[in-house]
Amino acid sequence: MHRLLRLISFSDARHLPMALKLSLLTAIIWSLVVAASLQWNLHSNRSQTMKMAYAEATAVRDLDMTLRRWALRHGGIYVKVSETVHPSPFMDHVADRDLRTADGVALTLKAPATMTREMMDDYAKVGGVRGRIVGLRFLNPVNAPDAWEKGQLEAFAAGDRKEIWEIADIDGQPFLRHLRAWFMDEGCVKCHGILGYKAGDMRGATGVNLPLASYYARIAAAGQQLIFSHLGIWLIGMIGIFWAGREGYLREAERKNAQTHIHYLAHHDSLTGLSNRYSMESRLRQAMAMARRHSTLLAMFFIDLDQFKVVNDSLGHHFGDRLLVEVARRLTLCSRESDIVARLGGDEFVIVLTEMEQRNDAIQMGNKIMNTLRQSCSIDGKSLYTSPSIGVSIFPDDGDDCDTLFKNADTAMYHAKAQGRNNLQFFTQELTQKALERMELQQDLRIALKERALELHYQPQIRGSDGAIVAFEALARWHHPRLGWVPPDQFIPLAEESGLMETLGKWVLDEACGQLAKWHAAGMTEIGMAVNISTQQLRTADLLNDVTETLAHHGIAASDLELEVTESVAMENPKEAIARLEALQKLGLTISIDDFGTGYSSLAYLKMLPVKILKLDRTFVKDIEVDANDAAISRSTLALAHGLGLEVVAEGVETAAQRDFLLTHGCEFMQGYFFGKPENGQVWQERMQAQKNPASLAV
Ligand code: C2E
Ligand code: MG
Ligand code: MG
Repeated sequence: MHRLLRLISFSDARHLPMALKLSLLTAIIWSLVVAASLQWNLHSNRSQTMKMAYAEATAVRDLDMTLRRWALRHGGIYVKVSETVHPSPFMDHVADRDLRTADGVALTLKAPATMTREMMDDYAKVGGVRGRIVGLRFLNPVNAPDAWEKGQLEAFAAGDRKEIWEIADIDGQPFLRHLRAWFMDEGCVKCHGILGYKAGDMRGATGVNLPLASYYARIAAAGQQLIFSHLGIWLIGMIGIFWAGREGYLREAERKNAQTHIHYLAHHDSLTGLSNRYSMESRLRQAMAMARRHSTLLAMFFIDLDQFKVVNDSLGHHFGDRLLVEVARRLTLCSRESDIVARLGGDEFVIVLTEMEQRNDAIQMGNKIMNTLRQSCSIDGKSLYTSPSIGVSIFPDDGDDCDTLFKNADTAMYHAKAQGRNNLQFFTQELTQKALERMELQQDLRIALKERALELHYQPQIRGSDGAIVAFEALARWHHPRLGWVPPDQFIPLAEESGLMETLGKWVLDEACGQLAKWHAAGMTEIGMAVNISTQQLRTADLLNDVTETLAHHGIAASDLELEVTESVAMENPKEAIARLEALQKLGLTISIDDFGTGYSSLAYLKMLPVKILKLDRTFVKDIEVDANDAAISRSTLALAHGLGLEVVAEGVETAAQRDFLLTHGCEFMQGYFFGKPENGQVWQERMQAQKNPASLAV
């Protein structure tokens, strides 16, 4: 058993499922138990049957002995001489062998041995068992011993034993044979004295021969029954074990499947099948240990897809998911098996290039990634162009632990975004410094917003035809206690990143409407207000509510408020943007497109946007007189706007020549240092009040 257990647990069975091992063990134990039970029952059946044989033989022997003793006691019996009964020729020496009755009936003596033998012969005809007397010397040759008996008689005579039970063949048939030494007594001398025996001598043996064939047949029949019944029980047991084993195996397989699935989910991203962050980190730790041992480098590529939100919002999440799967496929194709490719969530992916010999390898890999991701992909019949912003950090130079490497790749990626997206940047110490400064600045902006330390300045917008101020654009200003004036170009994106834009936007709206209300109250009722709206503000569903409430709060008519959105803001999620802007327009607000010409203009969308005004970006105005291209762009923008029924505000007008050029080409409104720089509300109020006619403020 011990060997068997070793065999099961340490040989090939080691690889078997536990349930199968158990079933195998149970089946072996069950087979051994059934075999042992069969063995025991067969043995018991045989010994019971043989006991019966012994009992029968003993009974016959006792009967034989009883008859023999009775006959001896009476010296035999006289029987009538007849045709079948004759005087025994072996008893010629016995004087009173033959008698005649007074009636003249002839009688002859049946010696006790003869009488008993004849009786036992008759009995043998009925029961098959014969009582017998044998001797080494005998009167009647019938009592001559056979070879077995002779051997036993000699052993008795030698005094080795006085009786024997043995199974021995007679004529090829099995018999239970018994012999017991027989000693001469007085009654025997009469007949057997002639053979030289005296009373007390061992003259032979009485015995019994019991044929065993019927007992053996009984043993065989019962044995067969036992074998069949055990076989049946064994089979039932084996079926049970097989069934239980199968159930166990299935349950084990189910549990293993579930465990594998859970393990898979714990280590993989369910959408793309790539490693997840947890798995990536543990694999990265191993890769770093290897790199340390072999003094090689690692490169971590932090990849973020540009404008993925736009895809998701405009084409649906299903489409976005398909794009992510495609990106995952391409990144996997780019990398070797030893590299780590993971999705951290959203549109953020990481590739760790392992076993790198030199930094140059990272540049090549970076180019490879950029090129694959830039190629258009076709999803659901739609062709789509994506681009990545990638940050790279190198182990061990840029960090020799997971977190630092990761943080620095992230910083480099952020820098890639800031550089206008669709590019790859390596981490430098300078970037960390910048990132730290940015974090500090974010913190300061939070405080400034809380403490209302921001200001709004206002820049006038002039009507070209008469030079009158028609509106002011509200421009946020932040005077940082240590850094001085921080330009809005810097702190507006910062506010967007840190989730402060909503608060900042609401404040600007409220402040600008408050100022306009003051000016209206001061009698300058013809003036409107333009407020810049950021990407995040346009994304929030609250914008409409905020505007409505603010207008109501300050008692301003919707027609006096203009919202400036940049092209890119409107283009990020055109459907949503159009819906929001339409709702605002329905309120009576004017919507204008800011910095027109700098973004990716889509005339098709422009047509769909509920826009009334285009603000021509100052970069085109700047060189309008010297650069023929800028002049052409400005001219065609004016023509395009007029063609679409829009009015144009030219930004950044700094000279009279610029103003004249724009006037010549029908530009309705202008804004720029030539007419007035952004100043606080008080300054403008005083300036306008000093000149009773606001229009005369224009130069
Ligand atoms: P913008 O909306 O295009 O604003 C016009 C910018 O051009 C202002 O810069 C203004 O000072 C500047 N400017 C006006 N006339 C001239 C000129 O003749 N020459 C030159 N060189 N510049 C001129 P500013 O105030 O630095 O604002 C920059 C940008 O920051 C704005 O561009 C706007 O996109 C954003 N911004 C400012 N305030 C806010 C705000 O309250 N909310 C939002 N969302 N964005 C704001
Ligand atoms: Mg603006
Ligand atoms: Mg502008």
